[in-house]
Amino acid sequence: MNVTLELVADYIANSRKIAVLTGAGISAESGVPTFRAHGQSKSAQAPLWEKYDPSELASASGFKRHPDLVWQWYDWRRNLVENVSPNAGHHALATLEKLHAPRTFTLITQNVDRLHHRAESQNILEMHGNIVSFRCFDHHHQAAEVERNLQSPPRCNDGQCHSKLRPNVVWFGESLNPAVLNAAMAAARQCDLFLAIGTSALVQPAASLPYIAREQGAKLVEINLERTALSENVDAFLQGRSGDVLPSLVDLVKAHPRPV
Ligand code: NAD
Repeated sequence: MNVTLELVADYIANSRKIAVLTGAGISAESGVPTFRAHGQSKSAQAPLWEKYDPSELASASGFKRHPDLVWQWYDWRRNLVENVSPNAGHHALATLEKLHAPRTFTLITQNVDRLHHRAESQNILEMHGNIVSFRCFDHHHQAAEVERNLQSPPRCNDGQCHSKLRPNVVWFGESLNPAVLNAAMAAARQCDLFLAIGTSALVQPAASLPYIAREQGAKLVEINLERTALSENVDAFLQGRSGDVLPSLVDLVKAHPRPV
């Protein structure tokens, strides 16, 4: 019996409000590479992009300097995420949300791949937007359909705009959508259990959410392949692949008597 897993299942069963923060690690088992660990993707084209620094490509200045290169990188990433499936970790979180109902369950993700939506989680906050929808660079007009495999960013067709289209993501150096950020902060402040899953806990402001939760008295649990900057501060650290750990947790929670 894994004592820490039992402890965390107990936290979950006894909590009223759960906030979860996921990072690129939860999608790694689906074949979506994280930024910090190269070479995880099942895609044969992945090595093509490994020579570029993602923080260079994922920025407004990078887009201005190299619009074609940035467009092609996002086009490759969009094809990649649309051709993989949610894994056991994504599905387990969707199940946990159902098991926890009608109590509050907020899934805050830094991921831009839409895999939590495809696993049918409901209450999702996409802190960094997503890469499967688009808007124009100059005026933020939303684009309906965008062709694949283009060499250059297409132009906005809203009136006379003609600005280049870009993905609906938050790039390095850009502000987050204030409504989404406020909702994430409120979830962290109000929860009694916070789970940080598959994140290196380095990218701000997401990285501060576990600390906000902890300051308000929430229990803090981390699930990761390896220890991170956060690990020293948690009540429980579950080391392993989220696609293994989360389904085991769900099994234990199902077996747990629910408090009245
Ligand atoms: P990160 O790359 O900094 O860290 C990933 C973390 O996941 C690491 O701590 C690693 O040890 C852990 N990990 C890897 N595989 C795991 C597994 N199977 N189970 C559990 N843990 C695992 O990712 P981050 O903290 O999300 O920050 C990077 C930024 O990059 C975010 O802003 C995110 O938007 C973006 N990003 C998103 C995606 C995606 O949408 N899938 C992919 C790459 C990068």
